[in-house]
Amino acid sequence: MEQSEFDSLMRDVEEFCVELRPKEEIHYIEHTYNDELIPLCKKYNLLGIPIEKKYGGRGADSVTYAKALERIGKEGTGIRTFFSGHTSIGQVPIQMWGNEEQKKRYLIPSTRAEKILAFGLTEPEAGSNPLELKMTYEDKGDHFVLKGIKYLISNAGIADAIVTFAYPKGENGKMSAFIVDIDKEREAKGESLMRQDLTTKLGMPTTNTGMFELNDYPVPKDNILGNEGDGFKIAMTTLMSGRLSVAAGCVGVIEDCLDEVVRYSKQRNQHGKPIAKHQLVQEHIAIIKTELDASRLLVYEAARLKDLYNLNPSDQRVRSAADNMIAEAKFYASNAAWNAADRAVQVFGGRGYSYLFRPGRHLQDVRVCRIYEGTDEIMKLKIAASVLGREYEAYR
Ligand SMILES: Cc1cc2nc3c(=O)[nH]c(=O)nc-3n(C[C@H](O)[C@H](O)[C@H](O)COP(=O)(O)OP(=O)(O)OC[C@H]3O[C@@H](n4cnc5c(N)ncnc54)[C@H](O)[C@@H]3O)c2cc1C
Repeated sequence: MEQSEFDSLMRDVEEFCVELRPKEEIHYIEHTYNDELIPLCKKYNLLGIPIEKKYGGRGADSVTYAKALERIGKEGTGIRTFFSGHTSIGQVPIQMWGNEEQKKRYLIPSTRAEKILAFGLTEPEAGSNPLELKMTYEDKGDHFVLKGIKYLISNAGIADAIVTFAYPKGENGKMSAFIVDIDKEREAKGESLMRQDLTTKLGMPTTNTGMFELNDYPVPKDNILGNEGDGFKIAMTTLMSGRLSVAAGCVGVIEDCLDEVVRYSKQRNQHGKPIAKHQLVQEHIAIIKTELDASRLLVYEAARLKDLYNLNPSDQRVRSAADNMIAEAKFYASNAAWNAADRAVQVFGGRGYSYLFRPGRHLQDVRVCRIYEGTDEIMKLKIAASVLGREYEAYR
C-alpha cells in the first residue's frame, strides 16, 4: 500500500474511533445494540479495509489491516468483532475463493454497508472440531437446499448474507461452503429460516451475536463458494484471517488498558502520593507494557507472513509458517489482553469493578478472544504440533 493511502486510511480510522467513542460508551452503559456503528463505518469508508479497491475496499495488505484493527480494538472488543465478522471472515473468503460475479454481487455492496456479512461455521455439536458439523445440503437440480443450525455467529442477526458450511446430505462427502442470502420475507413468514440473537453474553453488549436455523432453505447454485468439497479448506484459510484480526484487536485492548492505567495512576492519590509512585502499581504498568510490545511484534510478524502467503497461495511451506505464527499471535495476544484488562481493573481499585470505566468493559469483552476462532487449547495444540511435527497433532 502506498504511504499516502496508508496515512489516509489511518486518519479515517482515527477519526472514526474518536467519533464513535462517546456513542459506544452510552450504548455500552445502557447495554443496547450500537446502531450508530455501521453508519459511521460507512462515513469513513471502513467496511472493506483489506478488500481490493475495484470492489470498493481500501486495498490494505495484512500488516496495514492489522494496524487499523489494533486502533479499532482500543474502542472495544465488540466493535472489533463486528469488523472481524463482516470483513475478516465475511468478505475475505469471498475475495479469496469467490468468482468474479460473486465478488461483484457481495463485495461491492458490503463495502457500501448495503450488505452486512457473517461467517457461519460453529454449530451446537461442532465447535473446536468443525469436521463434526451437522448442517447438510442437498442438490435439487437448479438449486441447493440447506438444513441445520449455526450458533454463536457474530453479526448473524444483522447479516444480509452468511458464508455457511455444510455436508452433502446422506453421503460421506466433503464439506462445501455457500453464500447464504438472508431472505427477510421468508424470515418474517417463518418459512425455512429462523434467527435469534444471543442476549446473555458476558460482554460485547453493543454488537450482535446470534444463531440461525435453516430448514430446507433454498440457495442458488451460483452461491457455492469455490468448488463443491472445498469447504474445509475455505474455513481453515478464513480462520487465519479471523485469528489475525482477533490478535490485532487484542493489541489495541492492551494499549487502551495501558493508557487508562497511566492516566488514572497519575491522578489518583493514596498514602500521600499518586498511586503511580507505588512500586507494586508500577509492576502492573511494566508487565502490561512488556506484553503490549511482545503482542504487537508477534501480530506484525504474523501479518507479514500472511501477506507472503497471500502472494504465494499455493506454497504450503509459507502457508503453514503463516498459520502457525497467527496461532501464536492469537494465543499470546488474547491472554495478554485478558491479563492487561485484569491488571487495569486492579489499578482502578473499586472503580475498576464497574462497566462505567474502560478497564471493566475490556475485562468483560476480551475474555471471548481466548475462545472464538479457536480456543486457547486448540491454539496450544497447533503450536506444539508445529514444533513436534504433524504426526503429533493431538486433535486428530
Ligand atoms: C461471542 C462469540 C462469537 C462467535 N462468533 C463466531 C462466528 O462468527 N462464526 C463461527 O463460526 N463461530 C463463532 N463463535 C464460536 C466459537 O468459534 C466457538 O465457540 C469456539 O470455536 C469453541 O467451540 P465450542 O464453543 O463448541 O467449544 P468446544 O469445542 O465444545 O470446547 C469446549 C472446551 O473443550 C476444549 N477442547 C475441545 N477440543 C479439545 C481438544 N481436542 N483438546 C483440548 N481441549 C479441547 C476447548 O478448548 C474448550 O476449552 C463465536 C463464539 C462466541 C462466544
